[in-house]
Amino acid sequence: MFLKRTFSRKFGDPASFLFKGQVWDSHLADSSPGDRNCDVCHRHIRFLFILKKTQTADPALPPEIGKLEIGRCCFHYFRKWNVDLFKELSVACQYELNREAAIRRDKKAFGKWARAARI
Ligand SMILES: [Zn+2]
Repeated sequence: MFLKRTFSRKFGDPASFLFKGQVWDSHLADSSPGDRNCDVCHRHIRFLFILKKTQTADPALPPEIGKLEIGRCCFHYFRKWNVDLFKELSVACQYELNREAAIRRDKKAFGKWARAARI
């Protein structure tokens, strides 16, 4: 767990990050599972959320000067320091978890149907 000053020095001001609206699921990507790591804590993660680093915290068309790829393991850094980003990441994460659960449920149902139909 970094203090805000340490986080800012290593990655940039937490307020200067925006969600790019992009999430990588390492189970679906070409890369093998587990070979994606959170840029902040370096844990192996399944869902990778792409953040855009901007020059300023001004949300009016800020130029991108870098990016950060994090897992939900590090959303907590933005809970206080960038509340809007934290909310967006939380919603995006919940969407991914719901999608994954729906796929798992449908595969299970399809599997029963496929066995009954001898496919
Ligand atoms: Zn992390």
